[in-house]
Amino acid sequence: MIKNVIQESRDLYGIDDWGSGYFGISEQGTVEVYPFGNKQVAIDLAKIVDHATEIKVKTPFILRFPQILDTQLTRIQNAFRGAMEEFKYDGELRAVFPFKVNQRKEFIDDLVSSGKKHIYGLEVGTKPELFAALAYDIHPEALFVCNGFKDSHFIELAFDAKKMGKNVVLVIEGTDELKFIINHAKKVGFCVDIGLRAKLYSKGSGMWEKSGGIGSKFGLNSVEMIEALYLLEEAGLKEKLVMIHYHIGSQITEIKKVKSAMKEAARVYAKILKSGFNLRYLNIGGGIGVDYDGSKTSFYVSHNYTIQEFANDVIYIIQDVCKSENCKTPHIVSESGRAVAAYHAVLITDVREVEKTGGDLEEWKISPTDHRILGDMINSLSYMNGKNFVEYFHDALQYRDELFTLFSLGYLEIEERAKAEVIYYALCKKALNFYRNSGMQLEEFDELEKNQFGKYMANFSMFQSIPDTLGIDQLFPVMPITRLNERTDHHGVIMDLTCDSDGCLDKFVDKRDVKHSLALHIPKSNESYYIGFFLVGAYQEALGNNHNLFGAVNELVVRINHDGKISSIEEVKGEDIGEILRIMNYKDEEIISSYEMQLKRNVAAGIIDSQECERILKKVKDFFNEYPYLVRKSTLEIVG
Ligand SMILES: *Cc1c(COP(=O)(O)O)cnc(C)c1O
Repeated sequence: MIKNVIQESRDLYGIDDWGSGYFGISEQGTVEVYPFGNKQVAIDLAKIVDHATEIKVKTPFILRFPQILDTQLTRIQNAFRGAMEEFKYDGELRAVFPFKVNQRKEFIDDLVSSGKKHIYGLEVGTKPELFAALAYDIHPEALFVCNGFKDSHFIELAFDAKKMGKNVVLVIEGTDELKFIINHAKKVGFCVDIGLRAKLYSKGSGMWEKSGGIGSKFGLNSVEMIEALYLLEEAGLKEKLVMIHYHIGSQITEIKKVKSAMKEAARVYAKILKSGFNLRYLNIGGGIGVDYDGSKTSFYVSHNYTIQEFANDVIYIIQDVCKSENCKTPHIVSESGRAVAAYHAVLITDVREVEKTGGDLEEWKISPTDHRILGDMINSLSYMNGKNFVEYFHDALQYRDELFTLFSLGYLEIEERAKAEVIYYALCKKALNFYRNSGMQLEEFDELEKNQFGKYMANFSMFQSIPDTLGIDQLFPVMPITRLNERTDHHGVIMDLTCDSDGCLDKFVDKRDVKHSLALHIPKSNESYYIGFFLVGAYQEALGNNHNLFGAVNELVVRINHDGKISSIEEVKGEDIGEILRIMNYKDEEIISSYEMQLKRNVAAGIIDSQECERILKKVKDFFNEYPYLVRKSTLEIVG
């Protein structure tokens, strides 16, 4: 029986599909993490969350699993190396991590240490990224790829990086950049390796299609490319051009787009190589998708290929083109970031409030003195059946309008109005149940279905923690992390703490299309109801913003040994109110002195005494260190 419910939960939330071998449900009905991508080592997420409570880490928090990162990085590396072996490819894999995907230090520290064994490098696209990334002592043979638009300071720092022993490649976005590099090289007497970013005719697919194609913002078109080659030749720097680069966008949903871009780029590579340049690397950019909904389709939050298929196609096509051009095959540089980073992080928060619509008919019994319309509604409720429910639902709508009129004209007491509302929702619910079993397709019931959902108010900010849900309609898998051995027929949408109507999550992953509500339990009064947001390790943390002054959330880095033991849980504190106010230019001293001035004014006027004044001032000073999100319920109870 319980077993069946657990299997139902697996299907309901699709965890076996999007979990990619890293997440599942235990026989105890809790979400499990498999840090090595197989069930031999399983960590109970609910236990980690309990531990967080014990050590007083407040929700919301991010759980980071460096072992998932390590496993996923290895999976991707192995896919390419496997393909190279299979096709007897003559060349190496030199992948790099695009810094913009997640710049958090806790993340990059682990990424760099996992990357050493793969000779994994870094890719940056801006000056601050370059500056931060150069501090990492990566494998000396690993690449350090510099993309993006560059000024003189960027370029000079990249030259200095070569002196530090970094294997730097400056990828050119425009010919002016190249002219500056050539001049600088003349001045300092050496030159870093250079790459050219090609503007391909081929486009990606999905949300980031615009990153590719001739209309794209990035890269050199054919004319500019020829100009760049000419400039290099003229400067005697032909042997410094080592890389051709392209990137057709993130989350490529269709494999055929990967293939057509690959064919075009491999031709560009081969033609330039044959015209006497010293090319060695073909940089295929990023774009390997993450299957957020587990559907394995070309839907925008999914992709219709496996990583192995992606790697096989890339290797095969490059080899094929080079063979036909009769030239040496390049080392492959992959810049995939999303697929590397997404899985390692889980956002945990708890539900604080569930808005009720309707109520218990038993509790809201009508009395003989109540208005006649209430009795009519109760009759309607008992006579509704599978044949007449549409008609009775229409009656209910009419009752609702009548109730409004009666109340406005003063014929109904507020208590009667409340009772009538309870009956109205009971009517809707009953009609909806008949509708669901009827196989009919009626718009008004689909609409009703949406409005029936409970509103689950959760302790987090979508703007800070899952900004892509607002910016680009990204869908992340979301589910409760406990009670998965309990059936529920409640459905809800999730609201965040911000005072913004956008801060409401009402689209959820589904293998077919999108769901507009999530199956959720009714939280119990004596225990926290936790929900997890999965696959949030890519892009969200960098894009998150401080809307309503919510800052970066707390973090726990959970390290797990191969024997399945948790070796350490390190806490990284989120931003406190003081830090966020400072970002917005507030000064601590000014705030304190302004509070002080106002309080002292009231002391002088005899409204409060100086003890009261001191008490409040102490609180003011403590508030700078306060976590902006809601404190735990239990704390509130103690205070109250
Ligand atoms: C963003 C970006 C990437 C990473 O793309 P993913 O979809 O995360 O793999 C790689 N290369 C360049 C040039 C980028 O701008």
